[in-house]
Amino acid sequence: MSDQIVQFAYLLAAVLFILGLHNLSSPRTAPRGNMMAAVGMLIAIVATLLVTGVVDYWIILAGVVVGSAIGAVLALRIQMTAMPQMVALLNGFGGAASTLVASAELLRYMRRAESPEGIVPIAIVLGVLIGGVTFTGSLIAFAKLQEMMRGAPITYRGQQFVNALLGLGAVALCVGVVLDPFDMPVFSGLVAMSLLLGVLLVIPIGGADMPVVISLLNSYSGLAACATGFVLGNSGLVISGSLVGASGIILTKIMCDAMNRSLANVLFGAFGAVDEAAVASGAAAARGTVKGYTPEDAAVIFSNSRSAIVVPGYGMAVAQAQHAVRELADELEKQGVRVKYAIHPVAGRMPGHMNVLLAEADVPYEQLIEMDEINPEFPETDVALVIGANDVVNPDARTEKSSPIYGMPILDVDRAKHVFVLKRSMNPGFAGVQNPLFYNDNTMMVFGDAKDTILKMVEAVRQFR
Ligand code: NDP
Repeated sequence: MSDQIVQFAYLLAAVLFILGLHNLSSPRTAPRGNMMAAVGMLIAIVATLLVTGVVDYWIILAGVVVGSAIGAVLALRIQMTAMPQMVALLNGFGGAASTLVASAELLRYMRRAESPEGIVPIAIVLGVLIGGVTFTGSLIAFAKLQEMMRGAPITYRGQQFVNALLGLGAVALCVGVVLDPFDMPVFSGLVAMSLLLGVLLVIPIGGADMPVVISLLNSYSGLAACATGFVLGNSGLVISGSLVGASGIILTKIMCDAMNRSLANVLFGAFGAVDEAAVASGAAAARGTVKGYTPEDAAVIFSNSRSAIVVPGYGMAVAQAQHAVRELADELEKQGVRVKYAIHPVAGRMPGHMNVLLAEADVPYEQLIEMDEINPEFPETDVALVIGANDVVNPDARTEKSSPIYGMPILDVDRAKHVFVLKRSMNPGFAGVQNPLFYNDNTMMVFGDAKDTILKMVEAVRQFR
């Protein structure tokens, strides 16, 4: 196949990737965006396979069959709540692939006794370093989320100093490889250092911050692929790697902004370690009495309401309550209650978590309203139905300067006329702080698993038809 056709195929693939990303920005067009990007990837793969120089198509076919089979089984079996760790593994494999390809290219140069020239040696060390950090960092993120290791930050005195020292060591090894690419002990040292750094940089980060880390590692895997693209002289890989790198870092920033935390705080703040001050501030907030209600009590309030805003959170995902929520909304709408859904950007444990779950239950997209748009509506709303959400509705974020979540934008559910909070206990959410919302006069706690509670509410609401 002529080089011009291959380059044109890569250009076409790049256009499809960009259009795919653009379409992913809205839930309505996201499936089309996914499809466009997948077609782009197919074009890029076919073009690459047709480039002369492929040594053995059978080995490639075997890899495609085995990889696709494992990927398909995993994708079909994975629970939505386990999606972050699945993405972590996939990023990790991307990083490992970049390290392996960059190393293999170096060995090929060595066999031909030909020195890599121009940007290639720099691209090789970047592919190996970033790919290695991504690989082991992602494995640690996976292990923390899968509870195969302790989720709490693992810290020790002088940790940041040690990490900084090892980082400098890695830079020195990179320089060594660029100066003499065939010095195998130095190159092996670089590989080992990259793998070690991945572990050491991720262990001090708390399990609950892993989604941000995964997004960052996703960006790294793109940068590693981009570097490998330069090693191979493959423009398709350079473009797709850059897109992954850029979109990963943008998503990381969006997640940090939505939690009102800096990336440095996520990476080095050891968030999630037991914080005495936070516990004390929670205890202060926890004064007052909590009113427990039954689903049937809630139905009585609904029967006198005209509007309701459903506020889903992580607990809805745990309870897999999205279909029951849709059933309740349908029933309420039949009785003339206007129902909307308030979507907080970091509700749940990954970006878009709530949108995906509600889409699974066929909730109309136009009813999903983003935080800034829905907040002014709460004071006019009869019922805010908080389903397994906690931190994203904690009013301390607005007022309590000592709270670890102070400054995080929240959904103003406390301003609604009535607030139902569905959760199993008084346990805190991800941030580990108490929520004064639960003690407000207009708040009614309905304790129990969210799905059971909602199904009981549906039955009770039907009685009023
Ligand atoms: P939270 O983690 O604050 O609270 C979830 C609540 O759900 C808990 O209080 C828990 O209470 C309840 N719950 C758990 N299981 C059930 C169940 N089966 N039935 C009913 N309730 C249940 O969740 P939010 O969604 O409010 O906030 C998300 C948090 O995660 C934020 O702090 C955010 O910063 C953080 N985060 C989010 C990321 C993202 O991308 N979305 C990324 C990184 C962090 P109980 O145990 O009493 O039932």
